[in-house]
Amino acid sequence: MAVTSDHRQSANALEPSSGAALLAEIHRMRILVADNAEGASALADMLTESGFTHVQITHNIDETLDALRAADRSDEDIDLLLFNAACPAVGGYDLCRAVRAHPAWSETPIVALQPRADRGADPLVEGFDAGATDVAFLPQRRIQELVPHVIAGLLLKRERDLRRSRETELESELAERKVMEARLQYLVSHDELTGLFNRRRLEQVLDTAVKRMQKQHISGAIIYIDLDQFKIINDLEGHAAGDRLLMSVSNILRSHLKQHDILSRVSSDEYAVLIENTNEEGAMHLAETLRRAIDNYHFSGSEHIYRISASIGVLIMHPEDEVSASEAMARSAQACFEAKAHGRNLVHLFDHNDLETSYLRTAVGWVPRIREALENDRFRLVFQPIIDLKNDQVVSYETLIRMVDADGTLVAPNTFIPVAERMGLIHEIDLWVVRHAIDTLHRLPPEQSHICLNVNLSTHAFQDPQLLAIVCERLAHTGVAAQRITFEITETAAVANYDQTRNMVNDLRALGCRFALDDFGTGFSSFNYLKQFPVDYLKLDGSFISNLLHDPIDQRLVKSMIEVGLALNKRIVAEFVENAATLALLKEFGADRAQGNHIGLPLDYIPAARPG
Ligand code: C2E
Ligand code: MG
Ligand code: MG
Repeated sequence: MAVTSDHRQSANALEPSSGAALLAEIHRMRILVADNAEGASALADMLTESGFTHVQITHNIDETLDALRAADRSDEDIDLLLFNAACPAVGGYDLCRAVRAHPAWSETPIVALQPRADRGADPLVEGFDAGATDVAFLPQRRIQELVPHVIAGLLLKRERDLRRSRETELESELAERKVMEARLQYLVSHDELTGLFNRRRLEQVLDTAVKRMQKQHISGAIIYIDLDQFKIINDLEGHAAGDRLLMSVSNILRSHLKQHDILSRVSSDEYAVLIENTNEEGAMHLAETLRRAIDNYHFSGSEHIYRISASIGVLIMHPEDEVSASEAMARSAQACFEAKAHGRNLVHLFDHNDLETSYLRTAVGWVPRIREALENDRFRLVFQPIIDLKNDQVVSYETLIRMVDADGTLVAPNTFIPVAERMGLIHEIDLWVVRHAIDTLHRLPPEQSHICLNVNLSTHAFQDPQLLAIVCERLAHTGVAAQRITFEITETAAVANYDQTRNMVNDLRALGCRFALDDFGTGFSSFNYLKQFPVDYLKLDGSFISNLLHDPIDQRLVKSMIEVGLALNKRIVAEFVENAATLALLKEFGADRAQGNHIGLPLDYIPAARPG
């Protein structure tokens, strides 16, 4: 039934704004009076005199039921039925029962009027049994006393209506959000060109598969495929031809896979297949089949026919290996790299020597350099401004760490942080960053006491019991307000150690610190967690923003993420804003804050005057 009465249109909350407004609302509600001719008009006059504006009269049971039906059809509820129970023409309590039996009127308040109180107490029982909401024993001369009964009945109806419309609102809000989530899930997890899973989605599926295989003691494999000539064809023949090639290759690969094997496109010219329940022999055989199928394929360009080949890496995942999904992906990619290095158009089976070589290549050199930098305090923070999009004022700076090498060159965090994380040096770095960030705030002049800092924490920060203590100690020692620190943690980190992270986040928030989920949108498995995760800001990952102007998919995603964020009461920060047009678009979409090279490059100091 449509919701049309005035009170239902006007009020969203259950509480009215004032007594007068409530009474006015009640007076506009619809009352149906059933009595003989004389009684009905006396009652109607009395109600009209009391201020009621929608009173309708009926004189027998059929008319009454017809009036109720007509009200249904016109979508204008009768809000209360008042009938004379002592009048045989209107049907007595049979009318009451007939109304109650109808599903649409089962909750309509019914006031039964007993003009003579000489029938003893039975009518009361009879009235309630028949479904009356209220029975009023009132002789004709006390008819004015009926008004409070009518008002009580109407209040009941109003409250029910409001509650119901609130429920409907909530239901549709929920449904809308579900649709939005599903849309996001699809866009974020699929490759638009081929319709295959993308890397994000594969990593999620792999994560579950790895756990399942370990539990069920079965092995599986990842086959990592890199096309050898894609970039040449893309450059020579153009992007449309490149897209055609990628589509053809995905079709070839798919035609050799079983239904439950998972094929995904993990980067521009790389595919990966996840196979559960296979062994080395099966996986190598399949990889060789795929290699040959691609090798046999000839791609027709505008003037040339190209031979296509692929380098393929195979990783066997044994249940006892205990590798994580991301490690497994890295290993299969490493094997693929070895296949390329050994001459292309080859299948290479991962073995631990590959790992050693690449691991040593990176870690061995880096560990002493990081240690030395820690010992000699050779780290720097640089500060990149974040503006509030309401007024373009700088409200915060993100602190970004740099390592200063022995020869004075600056090393970017993406180079040394992953090694530091693997080699157990990250806690010291996290603590260094926290201490220096708080000290930086402490040293700012009073006119910049409104400036805040966003501080990145590593994936492992929350496993360090010292962190909370150090934050408390530094804040107390410097007198810096905790509200001026926003910690940034990545979505992946938050989900990986959900309970532990959540507890620590709650402790730090209790101090007053704020939290932002960094790189938001890259790991959508966490969407459900997000609803409960105690963060204040979502930082949309830069990969959605850098091409925002030209990529309609990114635009849809960013819009949806902003909608979802706002619905969950989180503020939205966009990073990687590289030009004015992107900034304008983000404002239009409703983002709250922005950061990026267009707004300000990272500087090794916090400027006194705001940039731009
Ligand atoms: P992030 O937290 O997402 O930081 C943003 C990165 O994007 C920074 O790179 C920043 O310089 C860069 N960036 C900002 N605006 C633009 C832009 O308009 N275009 C482009 N292309 N890039 C932009 P940076 O400094 O190299 O940091 C990389 C990542 O290293 C950070 O990503 C963060 O995850 C990590 N990191 C940085 N500082 C720290 C730190 O103190 N502790 C920890 N644990 N991680 C850090
Ligand atoms: Mg960050
Ligand atoms: Mg980020």
